[in-house]
Amino acid sequence: MPNEAAARRWSAKLRDYMDSLGRPKNLFIIVNPFSGKKCARTVFKKEIKPLLAAADINCTIIETKHRNHAQEITKSLDLLKYDGIVCVSGDGVLVEVVNGLLNREDWATAIKVPLGVIPAGTGNGMVKSLLDPAGDLCSIPNATFAVIRGHKRSLDVATVLQGEKKFFSVLLLIWGLVADVDIESEKYRWMGSPRFDIYALLRIVKLRKYHGRVHFVPAPGYEAYGEPVKQVDNFDGHILLSKQDQGSATKVKSCGYQGPEISLEGLEWRSIVGPFVSIWVNNVPFSAENYIPAPKAKFSDGCLDVIIVRNCPRSALLGMMLKMSDGSHVTSPHVMYLKVKAFRLEPGTRVGHPTKGGIIDSDGEVIARGDESAENSEHKYLMAYGPPIQMIVDQGLATVFSPLH
Ligand code: ADP
Ligand code: MG
Repeated sequence: MPNEAAARRWSAKLRDYMDSLGRPKNLFIIVNPFSGKKCARTVFKKEIKPLLAAADINCTIIETKHRNHAQEITKSLDLLKYDGIVCVSGDGVLVEVVNGLLNREDWATAIKVPLGVIPAGTGNGMVKSLLDPAGDLCSIPNATFAVIRGHKRSLDVATVLQGEKKFFSVLLLIWGLVADVDIESEKYRWMGSPRFDIYALLRIVKLRKYHGRVHFVPAPGYEAYGEPVKQVDNFDGHILLSKQDQGSATKVKSCGYQGPEISLEGLEWRSIVGPFVSIWVNNVPFSAENYIPAPKAKFSDGCLDVIIVRNCPRSALLGMMLKMSDGSHVTSPHVMYLKVKAFRLEPGTRVGHPTKGGIIDSDGEVIARGDESAENSEHKYLMAYGPPIQMIVDQGLATVFSPLH
């Protein structure tokens, strides 16, 4: 620059231009010091804060003190002060934030606040799903830049429902082999990440299958899967927002979001009967950084991607699980891959063990458990194992910071 004044003028012009891009200026940042290797606090201070400061973003920072703290915070947060909520954590805190926002009275505007995740946890499926299509490595700086640039995209939210019990999911629901491996291998945590592969091998050798049934409303192009269900009335009143429910939903509406306002009556339901080895219901492609069960999943297509494995020889099953690291399992003849608008799981007992059920996990949270540990545990699960659990998608309900629009 020829002189100071010229430099200042240029600087002001550039700043005005940057301001016109709709980048966030005020962010509410939630750091989970307990995430992953417990270094989110240091990572935030050393790697993230300097970038946000250089981008002239004002940050309000809060650390979570316990489980569900992020949900409590977002339920009462003054959202007018912020251009976004950013989680420095794993997927767990993001899911709590979504649930917190949707349980507010003003949920319809609250859920439109852009959400960001900067990977500091063990499960970083959402941020990997966001960065991967842009060719970006799943790293802390890349995720931070995605927030700073402020591009946004909408994200489907699924309401998981059993009677009055509700949970809002943005990632997945799993049942069978993969849920057993995820949850039961917890006791081998000392092994580090090889625990999943080792426990999966063990579970495949001593393979379990589960009785049960799934119902679904296929997305266009997937109508040939399963068998038609003639009588929707067979669903014993559990259909989300049947005419009766719609009446009661309006009454309690002030308590928060009640699920998508669409009636499922009159839709073409189809069904598949077990026994099943494993079922995945995914909203985004990756469920962890190195695990892509649903390569065709889209952020806001209004669909869930369902992957079903019923019968599969053990050797093929092992190969298939390994191929989930690059998504090539979808070509296996033992994998059924379909897109649905709504999904309903009726989980049954383990084949040969009429008293034992499995584990149902949604977004890293065990929502129902039918094995012995459920009986011994003090922990009350949100839903019961056995009665139907239904998922229905609200297209593009949430908004996330993303490198791509
Ligand atoms: P990870 O991917 O490592 O599991 P998450 O950020 O998803 O990391 O968080 C895991 C869990 O930690 C969440 O269920 C969250 O509620 C819980 N949590 C948050 N803060 C704390 C805390 N201070 N102590 C213990 N658990 C916490
Ligand atoms: Mg989707």
